[in-house]
Amino acid sequence: MLTEREGWLKSQMKSDFGYSADCRSGQNKTRVGDRDKVLAGGKSIVPTMPKLFRNELAAHAYDKLLAYCLSAACAAHRGMLFIAPVSVLLFFIDGLGIGTRGSHNPFDGLDDATPLAIFQSEPAVLPFKGLLAATDARLGVDGRPQSASGQTTILTGINAPAAIGYHKQGFPNQALLDIIREHSIFLQLKQAGVQKITFANTYTEKFFESRPRWISATTAAVEASGLGFNRVSDLKAGRAVYQDFTNRMLIERGEPVDLRTPEEAGEVLASIVAGHKFTLYEYFITDKVGHDQDYEAATGVLRALALFIRSLLAKLDLEKTTVILTSDHGNIEDLSSRNHTLNPVPTILWGEHRQELAAGIHTLADITPGIVDVLTKGTRDDAR
Ligand SMILES: [Zn+2]
Repeated sequence: MLTEREGWLKSQMKSDFGYSADCRSGQNKTRVGDRDKVLAGGKSIVPTMPKLFRNELAAHAYDKLLAYCLSAACAAHRGMLFIAPVSVLLFFIDGLGIGTRGSHNPFDGLDDATPLAIFQSEPAVLPFKGLLAATDARLGVDGRPQSASGQTTILTGINAPAAIGYHKQGFPNQALLDIIREHSIFLQLKQAGVQKITFANTYTEKFFESRPRWISATTAAVEASGLGFNRVSDLKAGRAVYQDFTNRMLIERGEPVDLRTPEEAGEVLASIVAGHKFTLYEYFITDKVGHDQDYEAATGVLRALALFIRSLLAKLDLEKTTVILTSDHGNIEDLSSRNHTLNPVPTILWGEHRQELAAGIHTLADITPGIVDVLTKGTRDDAR
């Protein structure tokens, strides 16, 4: 349990640094005794922090926390100060709902599909202390939830189907693009001064040579902030992941890249997440397989995807990282129909902020506000 003072110091550190800080015993702690050394460079403490430490306000908060950590009240820790950057991964999976058991559901009886195999009316068994927030994708609008309006909602926090009056399939129309360009999560984070942020997926040169007439909600959300896209050269350098994380589809299209196992892809994505405050990753083969009603393809895709996610989680430092896995609508969990389902979607939370996020996420419109909160809490108050 945190004392009141510890809690206040933690929030102070977070508001001044934009970093989470704690003083406690255990592993992964950094001994911080030389304030001047930290303020001058801090390289031995946390490589990405020197600029923040030069900030007067940050120095003030640092002194207060260190003084507390060295005081009699915290004697057990003997100045062991734990300072960790707060980072968030939004892992988006297209067309994944929470279904019922039965032969229509490829998850039923499927081994090795943890953490994706979640069933209605059954407690979710989630590794790495994950928490489930069953999430409404219907958003109070009649009809089956669809990709363009659902993704717009996830990536902006605006209830897009309510705004345009219906669930919009496929790619965003002008009305949805207008919402994305004003409220994109990438734009909100940029305006709040959250750096660095990235869309981890890879674009091929073809996209830039002949830009498609219709672009995805994700592409529009990234462009709204002026952020660049990763290319195949970034993938080869370990700075990006393809939406088919094994690279098989890229190789079939003639790109000179190596195959990655799901475990290798998980490691690459984990290293990208560790180097950024906010990372988005998008996977959409699940939705295609759901529309195809291909049971065998579905089980193969789900097994590999689940392994990728478990490998990723095993490589992430979940004391520093918050992971939010979510979807725009159900589909693959019911192969008896080629349509999207009306099921809730699983939002699964891992890491430091999982409890507060799980408590606040009820619909797709709650995802972006939750992420922005985690990454900016405190700093917005200071700016006022
Ligand atoms: Zn979709």
